[in-house]
Amino acid sequence: MRKTDLFSKILLLFSALILLNFSQAAEIKLERVEPPFWWTGMKCDKLQLMIYGENISETMPVINYLGVKLIENIPVENPNYLFLNIEIHKEAVPGTFEIKFMKGEKSTQTYNYELKQRRKYSEKRQGFNSSDVIYLLMPDRFANGDISNDDVSGMKEKTSRSNPNGRHGGDLKGIEDHLNYLKNLGITAIWINPVFENNMPKYSYHGYAITDYYKIDPRFGSNTDYVNLIKNAHKTDIKVIMDMVFNHCGTGYWWENDLPMTDWYNQWPEFTRSNYRGGTVTDPYASEFDKNKMLKGWFDVTMADLNQNNKFLADYLIQNSIWWIEYADLDGIRMDTYPYSFKEFMAKWMERINLEYPDFNVVGESWLPDPASVAYWQQGSNNEDGYESHLKNVFDFPLMYAMSAAFNEKDSWNNGVVKLYDALGKDFLYGNPENLVVFPDNHDCDRFYTKVNENIDNYKLAMAFLTTTRGIPEIYYGTEILMTGHENRGHGDIRKDFPGGWEGDKTDAFVKEGRTTEQNEAFDYLSNLLNWRKNKEVIHKGKLKHFIPENGVYVYFRYDDDESVMVILNNSEKEQVFTTERFAENLNGFNSGKDIISGKRIENLSEILIPAKSAMIVELVNK
Ligand code: CA
Repeated sequence: MRKTDLFSKILLLFSALILLNFSQAAEIKLERVEPPFWWTGMKCDKLQLMIYGENISETMPVINYLGVKLIENIPVENPNYLFLNIEIHKEAVPGTFEIKFMKGEKSTQTYNYELKQRRKYSEKRQGFNSSDVIYLLMPDRFANGDISNDDVSGMKEKTSRSNPNGRHGGDLKGIEDHLNYLKNLGITAIWINPVFENNMPKYSYHGYAITDYYKIDPRFGSNTDYVNLIKNAHKTDIKVIMDMVFNHCGTGYWWENDLPMTDWYNQWPEFTRSNYRGGTVTDPYASEFDKNKMLKGWFDVTMADLNQNNKFLADYLIQNSIWWIEYADLDGIRMDTYPYSFKEFMAKWMERINLEYPDFNVVGESWLPDPASVAYWQQGSNNEDGYESHLKNVFDFPLMYAMSAAFNEKDSWNNGVVKLYDALGKDFLYGNPENLVVFPDNHDCDRFYTKVNENIDNYKLAMAFLTTTRGIPEIYYGTEILMTGHENRGHGDIRKDFPGGWEGDKTDAFVKEGRTTEQNEAFDYLSNLLNWRKNKEVIHKGKLKHFIPENGVYVYFRYDDDESVMVILNNSEKEQVFTTERFAENLNGFNSGKDIISGKRIENLSEILIPAKSAMIVELVNK
């Protein structure tokens, strides 16, 4: 090739590149507007819209709708984003308006933004409370109601039921198909592990690496399917609690390679893991180094740590939660990894939720071992640093540890049921002990039946305690049929498929005939307790008084002006006979009772006989 030829070719290539560049610069795309729609009549009249699309910041948005005002149009670090601050007047009528993205006189893109009418009761919606019993289920592992969504094109991970860490195909339809099963068991609320899109190459089944906050994972169903599931759950008198994660998102999130700004994530020069020491947030001696790593370290390589101190991201997350409450008609939210997010942001979020929905509930996962640390995160606790979380509900992790130990141990001064007694004695630390969610296990630890060495008597004692102590009981799916699993064998072991949830399963534990004798014994025992509890206001709201355990026997009372219930847990290996003088302050005026476990009447309350390793729940009667 001659030199001049080469030169002219290079010149041609350059001019082509310049042309291409020019045409690219000129191109303006609109890919996303989030939240995609909103409502009129919200308490807060402000709305932030995140607009995403190639070079969208080169445009000037225009809105023309009565009662809607574009206050601010904010370009940020990345030219592919715009943030719009909008004001929606109280009198604005529901309808659709155009957002025109103008370049000079020309409209480059238009988005039809809908303002919907809120449900009449939305503001007064009731959350969950101590009259409820929550059933925690993992949607991929509960039931596969629709095999057509097991593999969806565009989704990176395919179904592989033989892989304990893979997707097994469970979905929203599977839950819907078993609402009556749950109702008959005595459940009044379900907490479903996250159902948002998790388009991750591996471990996508558990749902905690969200890749789109506005989309249900298509392998579970569509957004509409989720709304319909909740509608049907409500018809069955079952509430639905949505699992949300603000601390992190999946590294497969749609914005991953095109972040609005660098500080959208908590950035590190190289991958840095959280130290998972939630206690550093409250520890008066904690080093800045440790606190920083706790809050800004990443939960996992696949989970990007979100920086909620970025005000645009803060609004994005807050509005997302409100969007789901309104859109799907939620009864509650469970918030993951609560202490890992910046606590000032979390308090601000809760204030906003409480403003929009004063009677709604959020339960925060503050996985800390002792009541003082957990109490810090609950509304109304008296924190020395003045921190007020505004968070109504927290999980009772200390009582979970106590329950896990109590029924396995020989009773002594420090061991056995006295652990329950001692744990409850710390309730003075909590803003509101009635609002604690009480549970024997969850999706992140050994299954309860494994913890009690697969001993059904221990299981029954624990269920009797769980359903009669203060707070809101929660049951992990499969506990009712004695499912087992060791956390140290991998999470797959504690998140096995519910037998009968898949077509062709060898057994179907959703029906009596499909359960073993022992499974039916466990199921019936729990179901009896839960159905009895449903309408027992004295258990929901009554006072609690307990007596120091003696000889492995723990006695407590739930009582109010109308009713009194005496609970007796004999955790010892022997039948126990005891007189009841020391309970006089609660027994005075009562002569007999009925044990709701055995169904037997008790004519003489002055002396109680209780078999080894068993429970009595006695409704007291005054003649
Ligand atoms: Ca499926």
